[in-house]
Amino acid sequence: MTHCILRIALDTPLNAVFDYRWVCDSANEPQVGQLALVPFGPREVVGLIVAVVHETEVPPEKLKDALGVRAQLAPLSAEWLALAGFAAEYYQRPLGEVALPGVPKNLRVGTTVALDRAIKKLAKLADAHDGTPVNMPALNPAQQEAADAIGGARGFAPILLYGVTGSGKTEVYLQACAQVLAREPQGQILILVPEINLTPQLEGNIRARFPGVMLATLHSSLAEGERMLHWLAAHQGQARIVLGTRLAILASLPQLKLIVIDEEHDPSYKQQEGLRYSARDLAVWRAWQLKIPVVLGSATPSLESWHHAQAGRYRKLELKERAVSQATLPAVKLLNMEHHKPQDGLTQPLIDALKLRLARGEQSLLFLNRRGYSPVICCESCGWISDCQRCTAFMVLHKGERKLRCHHCSLEMRIPRHCPTCGNIDLQPLGRGTQRVEEGLQLLFPEARILRIDADSTRRKGSAQEAFDTVHRGDVDILIGTQMVAKGHDFKKLTLVGILNPDTALFSQDYRASERLFAQLMQVAGRAGRTAQADGGSASEVLIQTRYPEHPLYGAVVNHDYDRFATALLAEREQAGLPPYLYQAMLRAEAPELAKALEFLTAARDCVPHEGITINDPIPMSMTRVYNVDRAQLLVESPSRPALQAFLKEWMLRLREMKSRVKWSLEVDPVDI
Ligand code: ADP
Ligand code: ZN
Ligand code: ZN
Repeated sequence: MTHCILRIALDTPLNAVFDYRWVCDSANEPQVGQLALVPFGPREVVGLIVAVVHETEVPPEKLKDALGVRAQLAPLSAEWLALAGFAAEYYQRPLGEVALPGVPKNLRVGTTVALDRAIKKLAKLADAHDGTPVNMPALNPAQQEAADAIGGARGFAPILLYGVTGSGKTEVYLQACAQVLAREPQGQILILVPEINLTPQLEGNIRARFPGVMLATLHSSLAEGERMLHWLAAHQGQARIVLGTRLAILASLPQLKLIVIDEEHDPSYKQQEGLRYSARDLAVWRAWQLKIPVVLGSATPSLESWHHAQAGRYRKLELKERAVSQATLPAVKLLNMEHHKPQDGLTQPLIDALKLRLARGEQSLLFLNRRGYSPVICCESCGWISDCQRCTAFMVLHKGERKLRCHHCSLEMRIPRHCPTCGNIDLQPLGRGTQRVEEGLQLLFPEARILRIDADSTRRKGSAQEAFDTVHRGDVDILIGTQMVAKGHDFKKLTLVGILNPDTALFSQDYRASERLFAQLMQVAGRAGRTAQADGGSASEVLIQTRYPEHPLYGAVVNHDYDRFATALLAEREQAGLPPYLYQAMLRAEAPELAKALEFLTAARDCVPHEGITINDPIPMSMTRVYNVDRAQLLVESPSRPALQAFLKEWMLRLREMKSRVKWSLEVDPVDI
């Protein structure tokens, strides 16, 4: 009986790898990549074995024993450990924080009952179902070319699949998948989608096409038992297709041969808290590491990806036409709100267009990216407005629940009966959210079946899916919703899209706002006219209500001209010295008083030499106060990514040494400036 030392990464805030003693014989040593249960302070936690050694600097009296090794679980592969290691280094976070949260909770508890049960269950499933695959539709020549290019790609091959909305990118993915699965008997494919709500539709498609293939899904709304089973199916190589949201990029996939990222421009691929990673960027790294193809699909690629494609680093495949013959891109028209005064938020031409669709039994979609009834209420006699006491934000009116709610800190209060300052009883809602538009629609079209889909209407688990099913069944005439309805869905009977109030994003101080707005408008516009209309069907239309019809962004939307828009935007970015021509990191600090946060950032600015790095002045964040905490930020920039990385590494060491009481965090490649 001898001892070995397990070097174990734990999910703790500090960069923590700890040594533990383990009794083992040399024939049966634990392996790097296995999980182990260890004591940590008063708790028992599961960590990741990153090295097995025979000596340690920890004095014997302080060395603790590991409590157990999860030997029934195959070790995480060296490739996976390298991926986690890369992400940890690149995003300047502890390895344990990258590696462990992605591992199902049931694997990170003291008992192995759930694990053993899941392993058994999967062993039984392995030789299960077969069935007749649904026929794949014949691809059009552009689709075929794209599918063959992806299916035939070897080695590291980043591919931008640039295809207009409705061009049939999904079919291309599926046929490319079929080729890869046929060629690689053990091979696995990872498909990422931006929204959980999009997984059921695609999941159904995949199951129908590949009935003999085990499919695992990974997203945040799985129950723990399911998550365990699906994660394990991927980890053991049984699931040959894994479909998931951004967190699935860190799944263990020992036989990964192809990665597909649908709607690669979508902001939800960026995690906005904790480990602030970009699933898209990690996917490209993972593909590079494994020497496999990665497909980035979009009608409006991110400027980063577009830039890579223009420079020849990514191969660009283009689908210029809609896949269904006779389905054409909708005609986009701008409705000048200076000329057409709105009634209940809707201008007359839009009301007429809705009437026409109702008469023809076609569906309409109204898009408004603001939930609630109205974003604020105010007193017209003294000017009081419904500020949140804890945030630099308004309390939003939720009329049905008779509440004001802050969307940032969730503070709720009853709607005041009279003005808190002057007593006036006539408080007015200002502006319009989805609930108010819904109410207006019900008055205008009492006979229509109207459905609202937003975060408020879909709180209950499964309710979003039910709502989308209702639309797909055709039991809805007018759909009103936020960005939840804008993405990906293939609504067959939809011929009209109305876009309400998109103007605010035109004047945002965030330089990415126009890129995002353009993508969003193209996405939502792309929901219209996806199938050929039956006889007498109206041509599909997109109507945008705006006060700035002259704005070039709208011109580009009208012309469906991503290409020109992107080229112009890239030229602007280059001139202004902005990403993708420059690399950035953002240090944020929060404290009960703004001065403390700024003080910390000022100290941070001056604490290391920084040649070749620009460190801007600390400034308050534009939404300064959230939940009684003030927030400030410091932007760091460099034209060289390696130089920035080297600086950040050094900087983080120093900042941790400062042991400031101010809470701070770093975001590499920040997206919200
Ligand atoms: P995208 O993801 O590019 O917006 P989808 O993949 O959702 O487009 O395809 C749009 C529609 O076209 C879907 O209804 C799909 O079934 C249909 N479709 C795709 N390819 C073909 C094809 N080759 N023949 C007929 N219909 C197709
Ligand atoms: Zn008042
Ligand atoms: Zn608040």
